[in-house]
Amino acid sequence: MFIGLHDSDCTGFPNYALIKIAAYHKARGDRVEWWDAITKYDKVYSSKVFTFTEENLYLPDKTIKGGTGYGIYRDLPQEIDDAFPDYSLYPDCDYAIGFLTRGCVNKCPWCVVPRKEGQIKPYRDWQDIRRNDTKRIVFMDNNVLASEHGVRQMEKMIEGGVRIDFNQGMEARRVTPEIAEIISRLKWIRFIRFACDTDAAIDSLDKAVNLFMSYGVRADKIFVYMLITDDIVSAERRAIHLREIGVVPFGQPYRDFESNKEPTRDMKRMARWINRKAIFTECKTFAEYKRL
Ligand code: SF4
Repeated sequence: MFIGLHDSDCTGFPNYALIKIAAYHKARGDRVEWWDAITKYDKVYSSKVFTFTEENLYLPDKTIKGGTGYGIYRDLPQEIDDAFPDYSLYPDCDYAIGFLTRGCVNKCPWCVVPRKEGQIKPYRDWQDIRRNDTKRIVFMDNNVLASEHGVRQMEKMIEGGVRIDFNQGMEARRVTPEIAEIISRLKWIRFIRFACDTDAAIDSLDKAVNLFMSYGVRADKIFVYMLITDDIVSAERRAIHLREIGVVPFGQPYRDFESNKEPTRDMKRMARWINRKAIFTECKTFAEYKRL
């Protein structure tokens, strides 16, 4: 069988579904390549992660589509999900990707995860995700610290000789002294990522940062995702607070996953202010930045 794969988003980050689909078909002797509009394939798969990515109108009618960007939340068939990813599709990728857990215990109103994946559950052991040709692993767990399995896997990785990232951010209110110690002993690719999406999350983040510092982790090693909604005052308050405690904030304008409504101009400007380090250091307030 001749298989065409289409990565709608083309972010450079490997598409988790497509690298598994490729592995599954290659193991069956099928020929697999990136889809193009001229070639005739027996089967075409297209994945779209982001709602704002344009759909490709040239894909054949029978394309098998999946992903949040298409509003399709179904899981991969078990036999495909069990395949070890084929990283050769993304030759520049020098890390493994995967999940220790799926789902989340929370139901934040702005987030698609509870609807898509449901309650948190164990998914894989870290050893099943690692690659033989690199020590780096990027985990995409939504709330790893809410899972006993996730925390125990992190603990096991301390002696595993790997360098890791949890690129979706962790939940600061779940950081206990035991978890802070585990996190401080792990090797990180660059940042230890958390989220501070509302004013209510500030207190937990402060406590977690203090705990990490007591275990020798520098504040500027901590990267904090910040949701920016139309409550610009809250976003500014959080951004200034994060700067004061010495962590690295990263603003993300909110985009509703159903309506796909464009963020307002102010939300986008707020993100630009926060995310350009030199400007954020220079302009102490959002009003100062807007006067530039
Ligand atoms: S904690 Fe994170 S993953 Fe869980 S529902 Fe909230 S935003 Fe989504």
